Amino acid sequence: MAYQFECSENGCAFLVRSSSDAEVERLVRAHVRTVHDGRIAQVDLEHETERIERV
Ligand SMILES: [Zn+2]
Repeated sequence: MAYQFECSENGCAFLVRSSSDAEVERLVRAHVRTVHDGRIAQVDLEHETERIERV
């Protein structure tokens, strides 16, 4: 199982994929803080993180 998050901000191509949901969460929070100067709610983070089967 892998976890993937794609940033939904306009014009942002940030995408992270990891086998660790904790790592995805850490990277997404850092991205939102540094690039968008904001924070992401836990519920939004969970909603936008996709679980994908490892190929
Ligand atoms: Zn972004």
